[in-house]
Amino acid sequence: MAVDATQPYDDQNIFARILRGEIPSRKVYEDDFSLAFHDINPQSPTHILVIPKGAYVSWDDFTAKASDAEIAGFVRAVGHVARDAGLVAPGYRLLANTGTHSHQEVPHLHVHIMAGRPLGPLLA
Ligand code: C5P
Repeated sequence: MAVDATQPYDDQNIFARILRGEIPSRKVYEDDFSLAFHDINPQSPTHILVIPKGAYVSWDDFTAKASDAEIAGFVRAVGHVARDAGLVAPGYRLLANTGTHSHQEVPHLHVHIMAGRPLGPLLA
């Protein structure tokens, strides 16, 4: 079911459980503010999710409540992960579904890094 981006944070959501190490993930990168791992159901040859370690439901929640250090650290982590994966020259897409109409499924902010083939125009 799609996430309501205004809902309170649920600390039993699947990404919270990954952050606590209760569920395994194929980790790509980790630092003080962020964790990156391979999407379990990739939609492109490279499909990595980057999540903040803080408890934020969505992009909206994060940009409203996170500290400048968390936001800067997270944005830099997304760039680092893509660069480190060699995605800059071929190109990549970032996506952060937010709320019901976007079909956000997991109520913990995640940025999708998608790459590895021509992705075509963004669908409406
Ligand atoms: O943006 P949205 O919330 O729809 O995306 C959630 C993503 O989380 C999906 O791409 C799904 O495959 C991924 N996922 C995952 N590991 C899980 C559960 C979901 O990578 N254990």
